[in-house]
Amino acid sequence: MEKIKMPVPIAELDGDEMTHVLWGMIKDTLIKPFVDLNTEYYDLSLPHREETADAVTAQAAEAIKRLKIGVKCATITPNLQRQEEYGLTQLWKSPNATIRAALDGTVFRAPILLKRVKPVVTCWEKPVTIARHAYGDLYKAVEYRVPGAGKAELVFTDESGRELSRQTVFDFKGPGVVQAMHNRDASILSFARCCFTYALSVGQDVWFGAKDTISKDYDQTFKLLFQKVYDEEYKAAFEQAGLHYRYALIDDIAAKVLRSKGGIVWACKNYDGDVMSDLVAAASGSLPMMTSVLVSPDGCFEYEAAHGTVTDHFYRWRKGEKVSTNPLATMFAWAGALRKRGELDGNADLVRFAGCLEQAGLDIFEAGHFTEDLTMLCDPSEYTDKPDNDTLLGLIRARLETLLTEEHDCAADMTSAALFPPVILTYPLHICIIKHNQKYREVLSQDGHSRQRLLP
Ligand code: NAP
Ligand code: MG
Repeated sequence: MEKIKMPVPIAELDGDEMTHVLWGMIKDTLIKPFVDLNTEYYDLSLPHREETADAVTAQAAEAIKRLKIGVKCATITPNLQRQEEYGLTQLWKSPNATIRAALDGTVFRAPILLKRVKPVVTCWEKPVTIARHAYGDLYKAVEYRVPGAGKAELVFTDESGRELSRQTVFDFKGPGVVQAMHNRDASILSFARCCFTYALSVGQDVWFGAKDTISKDYDQTFKLLFQKVYDEEYKAAFEQAGLHYRYALIDDIAAKVLRSKGGIVWACKNYDGDVMSDLVAAASGSLPMMTSVLVSPDGCFEYEAAHGTVTDHFYRWRKGEKVSTNPLATMFAWAGALRKRGELDGNADLVRFAGCLEQAGLDIFEAGHFTEDLTMLCDPSEYTDKPDNDTLLGLIRARLETLLTEEHDCAADMTSAALFPPVILTYPLHICIIKHNQKYREVLSQDGHSRQRLLP
């Protein structure tokens, strides 16, 4: 089979520990045999960050901005214990924080669903994606523990020193506590743009909830800025794509999400997103099955798995033990980046390969080969075995070869109906429906974007 060409590179950010080991295995076993892989390589492992005084992280962020697409392996964010372990001269910042700041991006997280691992919310047929605003609110709040009777005030003084506002927060008669939060219009606007850009790229509606009835300035500002961005910059494109934007009170949205079929981008203020992303992860399956993509308002995409470097597996593996680490989220990160490259370059073969890569992983899991994180969640009757990493990657590779050589429409065909009863399988970044539910199939449109279509 001739290898798929990839004329334009993506930024590849390698990382640490078990995920670094998996990274190499996924590239060598599942990608390089089939694709002329073209990447700009940045080694973000902790030893190399130390060696370069973390300059490599900044260079990698610049490469993502330049190439528009990056794929990142999990990396260690050092604490004191890691400083000792790796002999670090300082506690280098979290690479994700550096990259997020450089791209001014928003993080979108969506679970990978398996039919064998039932979501707790049984009506979800497609993943719920959480878009969390990663700036301000509680996370940059100023707080004060009030010792006793006294007055707390909120004062604003302009640049020239003129007092523009003074309000009493509370007249305390005894001890208590106060808090002041802030946000910036610029940050809210870019959050809104990221949400609408991402939703368009995956063909999903955006739901946004806040509490503007109670918070008449703070949450109201979020609501108005979202609406303004939507009306002025995205409404036409949404209407053309048959998509919707919906604002409602956060409690109403939370209840509606639970009763929905999923397939929504749920835009959350910082604290809401913190809570809801863990809730959605737990309700959907397990944390290792969570994908993550950072989207910048100017359309840069960085794909990664949401989980960390899986340190305990790494220590066991280093001792020569066989381990069973879930590779799906890392495979999906590669697939996401390759698909996006294919879409931007009109490279249909690369887009199709990305679909087959995801499909091959899912097929093997759906056939009952589970990693240990999933066996812990399931009844032993729900899986057949727990292969170690080498065996699992071998199974996935064999399945991938079949999908690629049989000229499968990866989105439409998987395997016998006996193994898989009619069901909608969902992917975080696109939706695919298997053969014996042939009402739908995924098609490539002329602009190279993959789309789901209802067949006549
Ligand atoms: P973690 O690596 O996600 O692991 C937490 C636990 O989740 C593991 O011990 C393992 O459970 C399970 N797990 C996670 N991914 C798995 C997979 N692919 N397959 C099977 N099981 C999996 O988080 P952590 O232990 O809190 O952090 C470890 C390191 O990762 C830290 O140095 C942290 O800084 C870094 N980190 C990086 C990122 C990132 O780069 N995006 C994100 C989070 C953490 P069992 O122990 O039960 O097997
Ligand atoms: Mg949290």
